Amino acid sequence: MDFESLSQLLDYFKEEETCIEYYRNIRWPGKFVCPHCGAEDPYVTKRGFKCSNSECYRKFSVRVGTFFESSKIPLRIWFAAIWLATNHKKGISSIQLSLNLGIAQKTAWFVLHRVREMLKDKDPSMLGGG
Ligand SMILES: [Zn+2]
Repeated sequence: MDFESLSQLLDYFKEEETCIEYYRNIRWPGKFVCPHCGAEDPYVTKRGFKCSNSECYRKFSVRVGTFFESSKIPLRIWFAAIWLATNHKKGISSIQLSLNLGIAQKTAWFVLHRVREMLKDKDPSMLGGG
């Protein structure tokens, strides 16, 4: 999926549910399984997912085991930061990021730091094309 502008991306990912759905398809392409036991077709709940295996039955979110996991920052902020970081070849500052996304500079710094780490050791293709 390619976005031509930041506003297009933010429009598309207006709802956190849309982000979750999108990221779920990246993490579990084709076959959606519980990350704890591998059972197929976990239940979709309001806040995330729940394993369908009665011996596991654990709740989990799309963020489990990712670099998003330890934060409460909305996924659309992460997606936007990744988009900005990959589309600004000369790099983007946390000040720019906080202005673009309307978030605190401290948050922007945290997000940007994590995104840079991720782009360094992973294929930045999670938003398509990269
Ligand atoms: Zn399970």
